[in-house]
Amino acid sequence: MNLKNSSILYERGQKNLVGAVNSPVRAFKSVGGSPVFIDHAEGSQIVDVDGNRYLDLVLSYGPMILGHQYPKVQEAVSKAMRKGYTFGASTEGEIELAELVCEAFPGMDKVRFVNSGTEAVLSAIRLARAFTGKNQIIKFSGCYHGHSDSLLVAAGSGLATLSLPGSKGVPEEAVKNTLIAQFNDIESVKKQIDSHNDIAAVILEPVAGNMGVVVPDPDFLEELRRVTQEKGILIIADEVMTGFRSKFGGAQELLGLQADITCLGKVIGGGFPVGAYGAREEIMQMVAPLGEMYQAGTLSGNPIAMACGLSTLLELKASDPYQDLNETALKIKDILLKAADKYEVDLQVNHFGSMINAFFTNQKVIDFSTAQSSDTEKFKIFFWSMMENGVFLPPSQFEAWFLCTAIDENDLNAFEKAVDASFKTISDKFNL
Ligand SMILES: *Cc1c(COP(=O)(O)O)cnc(C)c1O
Repeated sequence: MNLKNSSILYERGQKNLVGAVNSPVRAFKSVGGSPVFIDHAEGSQIVDVDGNRYLDLVLSYGPMILGHQYPKVQEAVSKAMRKGYTFGASTEGEIELAELVCEAFPGMDKVRFVNSGTEAVLSAIRLARAFTGKNQIIKFSGCYHGHSDSLLVAAGSGLATLSLPGSKGVPEEAVKNTLIAQFNDIESVKKQIDSHNDIAAVILEPVAGNMGVVVPDPDFLEELRRVTQEKGILIIADEVMTGFRSKFGGAQELLGLQADITCLGKVIGGGFPVGAYGAREEIMQMVAPLGEMYQAGTLSGNPIAMACGLSTLLELKASDPYQDLNETALKIKDILLKAADKYEVDLQVNHFGSMINAFFTNQKVIDFSTAQSSDTEKFKIFFWSMMENGVFLPPSQFEAWFLCTAIDENDLNAFEKAVDASFKTISDKFNL
């Protein structure tokens, strides 16, 4: 495949950008080869600077649930742009988006907008500490909550059970209050709760999406709510990925979980940088200017970002595409499993609503260690073959694939052909 212009930009970008990217996954390190640079995108399709056209299952890692350049969203953004870009004072759009978000989340009376998921989560942690007067937090191995210091622990390392920093530059003091438990393993949570008495909150992705898609066991969530409630420990649902992805509102509602604090991002900005955290009244009363927990942002609630998020959510609310998205996911799952069967490749497909991904393993994937049983060499071959056959997937085994409402029958047919060709390549390469 021709990636000439992409590789020229990749070379040029190396000089003044770090690794030619602004977020590491975009460098394609875990699949090797030269990353693609994008020229434009429309609907379900994304086009790189060499004119290669792909079915886009990255969707900017989730936000573009309506597909690219959705007309009503385009219109709302253009209209907002004509009024100016940012004012350092409040606008009606912030209230409108807040009303819509609070209406969609039963546990949320008030919300604060920020500029990214990372910011939403770090603020939520501060809020949980402010509200409970306690310091420790429990996080699950393999869950990702952005790149703030205290959460860069067990976000993907072999030392998954130790509270050791997952990055250079993160001091041990910054993570000493972060306790680790295993997803879908309530005993590992109880053990931490029994041996510590300064726990403010448990933070989790209600459906994990940053170790590949891992769906929680209903008993696990029910027990989690019970044991935390008993000890006055808050639950922070990090719904940055899952919020407005599988229903209008949060995955926690679908799963029967009532969190105390919820974090949002990705879809609520519709492609602009927006994050949010919210909770019931008594908790949000802690946040400045009402309370003594400080948190602020020059561009928070940016009017153009609000317009984009608002028009995206209004469209999702009006069209309620979630049943259809789920059906698309089931078709995709079926295509993958049929091809795996045909070419005798070990494969597990996990999905929750419009988040889906495939693991090259014969083990059921229920947590970080089973996710890691996936054969990443096979994933690499699969990834590049899918690219050659016109499907853009996240360039890592441990990222979720996302679906948008613009995917049609033609896209699914193209996907099926690409999958068949890719499994054939795997089968040939590995002499299956
Ligand atoms: C993407 C993501 C984040 C971080 O959001 P950014 O906007 O990249 O800072 C946090 N938590 C979860 C669950 C995410 O998927």
